[in-house]
Amino acid sequence: MFTRTSLVNSDTQLNQKSYYEASVQRPAPLPPLEEALDVDVVVIGAGFSGLSAALELAQQGLSVVVLEADRIGSGASGRNGGQAIVGYASGQGPFEEQLGAADAQRAWDMSLEAIDLIDARIAEHGIDCDRVNGYVYVADSPRKAGQLRDEMEGLQKRGMAVDWAEGADVSRLIHSPRYVAAGREERSGHLHPLKYALGLAHAAQAAGVRIFEHSAVTDLQRGSTLVASTSKGQVKARFGVLAGNCMLAEFGPRVAPELAPRIMPVGTYIIGTAPLDPTLCARLIPSNAAVCDNNFVLDYFRFSADHRMLFGGRVSYTTRTPTNLEAVMRQRMGEVFPALADVPIEHVWGGFVDISMNRAPDFGRLGDNLYYLQGFSGHGVALTGLAGKLVAEAVAGQAGRFDVVARLQHRRFPGGALLRTPSLALGMLWHRLRDVL
Ligand SMILES: Cc1cc2nc3c(=O)[nH]c(=O)nc-3n(C[C@H](O)[C@H](O)[C@H](O)COP(=O)(O)OP(=O)(O)OC[C@H]3O[C@@H](n4cnc5c(N)ncnc54)[C@H](O)[C@@H]3O)c2cc1C
Repeated sequence: MFTRTSLVNSDTQLNQKSYYEASVQRPAPLPPLEEALDVDVVVIGAGFSGLSAALELAQQGLSVVVLEADRIGSGASGRNGGQAIVGYASGQGPFEEQLGAADAQRAWDMSLEAIDLIDARIAEHGIDCDRVNGYVYVADSPRKAGQLRDEMEGLQKRGMAVDWAEGADVSRLIHSPRYVAAGREERSGHLHPLKYALGLAHAAQAAGVRIFEHSAVTDLQRGSTLVASTSKGQVKARFGVLAGNCMLAEFGPRVAPELAPRIMPVGTYIIGTAPLDPTLCARLIPSNAAVCDNNFVLDYFRFSADHRMLFGGRVSYTTRTPTNLEAVMRQRMGEVFPALADVPIEHVWGGFVDISMNRAPDFGRLGDNLYYLQGFSGHGVALTGLAGKLVAEAVAGQAGRFDVVARLQHRRFPGGALLRTPSLALGMLWHRLRDVL
């Protein structure tokens, strides 16, 4: 019998006051699995990765079941900053070093395709999710401005148009005393992630996918036929997709235990203000873009469609929720936008990102019929969608693009289950100190 781990408890707790959950009308819960099924593909996890894979696989004519421990989009996919960003959390470094220039370029192109795929799905399936184009990268010190300029020049070399501003000119892009430089591009942008996740699920169901909520997979037998077991049911399948993010191995010791040491659950948090005066919003971020700084522990923020500031930042490497979270987040927001220092805060929530050691995505196979997608490292809003598509291509016998990412080598976090969070916390302290030097 599965007992909830502290990570699962902490994760569930962090979703109680989410703006996204408060701003959607979820459909009635889907019933849990209480039967034995035999299908082509079993997908574990109904976040962006699992839903995207399920949709694509069903569109190929395969029978697909999705098993979700909680509810659709209740993991990171339904509670993130909603920032759909080009590129990878790792930058191009690991791709260029490990795969060479040609495949690194393919990886970059796929990251652009990931953004286009969101828009294509919104259009094809009529998903209403408050999509906005535009992204502003900001730097809060001359040293960080130099790094940002290099990054923006990198985007320009790849053919992207960038609007660059320094000094007083920054206020064209963002009205904040904090930033000394800013760059804006139009490919990235933002959306309401839970609306998008529910829209993807709806599209998958329309394509024939069966989704079971409150159906944690507690055991997974491997072989030419996979057997995924929940507390009351079982799914046999020719192929499997593991899309459970940080929680995957928390539900049973035999559910892909080899994957957990390659990622680290890192907590990140968001506050949502009460709706603000639209004129104030238009003054603070004139283009209504999503914004992110380039510090190691970054601030990321944007306005929602109903004019709330959704301000994300702060991290926990220990999986414990920081004390005084709301006050700390309010202070950070007030430093960026003094005009918001005292506005009411109505939502405080968070979740865990699955960082890999080198921050590059970690895709691959266990055996030849069980695929996994993890290591999005806080950069998964767009990339997860493409990841699901790449799995579907691989299942259909076209593994070339999946293998570009799957060929990346990943190291395990040192220290095993007990030590990896404290040792990571110590390691990260160094980077956090560098941000303020
Ligand atoms: C607070 C926060 C802010 C973020 N902001 C951004 C951002 O602005 N931009 C960006 O690009 N990325 C952001 N991210 C990261 C992004 O949200 C993730 O990379 C992405 O959503 C991961 O999607 P996923 O489908 O892989 O995982 P998830 O959405 O976490 O889905 C995994 C699902 O699998 C289920 N599951 C796990 N184990 C099992 C099991 N054994 N049986 C059944 N079901 C199981 C879980 O319940 C969960 O629903 C953020 C993440 C967080 C937490």
